[in-house]
Amino acid sequence: MKLIIPENSDFSIDNIPFGIFSTPERTPRAGAAIGEYIIDLFELTNDGLKVDFDRSVFLDPALNRFIALGKNITVDFRIDIQKWLKQSLWSDKDFNRFFVPQESANMHLPVQIGDYTDFYASIEHATNVGMMFRDPENALLPNWRHLPVAYHGRASSIIPSGVNIHRPKGQTMPNGAEKPVYGPSRLLDFELETAFIIGRNSDLGQQISTGEAASYIFGMVLFNDWSARDIQKWEYVPLGPFLGKNFASSISPWIVTMEALEPFRTDTPKQEPEVLPYLQFEGQNSYDIELQVSIQAENEEESLVCRSNFKYMYWNMCQQLAHHTVNGCNVRIGDMMGSGTLSGPDESAFGSMLELSWGGKKTVALNNGLQRKFIEDNDTVIMRGFSQNGNLRVGFGDLKTKVLPAL
Ligand code: CA
Repeated sequence: MKLIIPENSDFSIDNIPFGIFSTPERTPRAGAAIGEYIIDLFELTNDGLKVDFDRSVFLDPALNRFIALGKNITVDFRIDIQKWLKQSLWSDKDFNRFFVPQESANMHLPVQIGDYTDFYASIEHATNVGMMFRDPENALLPNWRHLPVAYHGRASSIIPSGVNIHRPKGQTMPNGAEKPVYGPSRLLDFELETAFIIGRNSDLGQQISTGEAASYIFGMVLFNDWSARDIQKWEYVPLGPFLGKNFASSISPWIVTMEALEPFRTDTPKQEPEVLPYLQFEGQNSYDIELQVSIQAENEEESLVCRSNFKYMYWNMCQQLAHHTVNGCNVRIGDMMGSGTLSGPDESAFGSMLELSWGGKKTVALNNGLQRKFIEDNDTVIMRGFSQNGNLRVGFGDLKTKVLPAL
């Protein structure tokens, strides 16, 4: 049987991202996406493609042990898959053993995430939020241009695409009220982000330099950092995000490797003033990745509400990792580092409803006359991301999450 890869597929032969899937017949295991199929890597390495490492890593319900083999193995393995696909040597009988239709599979979290950190690395987003919540004249706090600001998030509530969430409940202080109230959040929001997955352990006490950072990054996913703005606003001083953030965070199920994104390297924004030596870097350290957010109300069509790009991010991933470890904090395989909301320079590129509706002061138009200020019950938020250069396309697939009413 011939493998047909649709034109414009996110999962072209140039991509080969890794994830964890299951079907009624197959326990959760490692796969690689190609077109509308998943390659079962345990089956593939049985008799399709011979490997020198222990192929039982592909029967784990997480990619951690595969990633731990190291880039000197995983990078070559991805290339070998590409060669195998080009040769099309499988028999008709074997096709259904090697290739599983994506529509018949369940996707799971790709890695066991030990720790999760969320940066705040978009200057447009930080400026917008600073203007709304603090002082339009001094929107950025004094530290912002000198270090990549971040907080430690919660890993237990990270979910893959397709898992529904319930509107969170919590404590808020309504405008003009004298005491707080408890109930469902009224200002539920998405944050358009990406995240990178750590591919190599570091030691406690060890600093990772900007030059070494790339060897510690396995790949990237799309990331929706759900936020309850009313809970957040009341709780966040002085220690920062807590219950307004940790009720759910959604990620796309396929980890796109840094090698697949290599052709899309581009410059980062100019940094002024000059950063400290440990944050300086060489070469092009960003990637041209188009990012989109759509909202789909119940029984309605999707409406595109945001188009942004990863390349707008002020602090690049190598700087983020160098800063994260400058005090000797260690990182472990499977740790996830969120970018922070990736807003762009103009209004159509704002990566949250907070910014798109400017704090709820204006409405965001959806198709068919619908409008939103924040996310309503039974809305589905869909994020997409892809890099394209002529016929070369590498994408992340859909990140979809539906919001059900509060329990
Ligand atoms: Ca965030």
